Amino acid sequence: MEESCGKCAPCRIGNKRLHELLDHITKGKGTPADLDRLKNMSIVIKDTSLCGLGQSSPNPVLSTLENFREEYESHVTIKKCPAGQCRDLMEYFIIAENCVGCTACARVCPVNAITGERKEPHSINPEICIKCGACKEKCKFDAIIIR
Ligand code: SF4
Ligand code: SF4
Ligand code: SF4
Repeated sequence: MEESCGKCAPCRIGNKRLHELLDHITKGKGTPADLDRLKNMSIVIKDTSLCGLGQSSPNPVLSTLENFREEYESHVTIKKCPAGQCRDLMEYFIIAENCVGCTACARVCPVNAITGERKEPHSINPEICIKCGACKEKCKFDAIIIR
């Protein structure tokens, strides 16, 4: 998208639309029909762009759709990112059995999303959590996971 010279519409506009659609999916707003849209748009961009840049730019989309279809499907159906990379689809969660109640996570949380008594299992309020990851880094007991 950034390297497009803008001379032809399929590359100039098509890559922007592809990017928007991918972004939409990573935010959990996609639908199964979007996967067909992604594929069709990619093929049109490849077939109608004037030079090699536009003719190859959708390749990563097509190859990941081909080889990691189940990951895309997870994003548009159950709204989960199996690789744990899409921030909007992540949830930080404390496994009560692993938590010793040391309070270290609560002390580093920048938005006070973690509550719990000392020596008791803690919990994270997903409504407040901004998914910064500081608690997971701090916990020495592998009690915090991303799910
Ligand atoms: S396909 Fe080539 S000519 Fe067309 S906008 Fe992209 S870079 Fe420019
Ligand atoms: S840092 Fe880990 S063990 Fe300590 S309170 Fe938080 S989740 Fe529990
Ligand atoms: S991910 Fe960040 S904001 Fe969320 S609970 Fe952990 S420390 Fe707090």
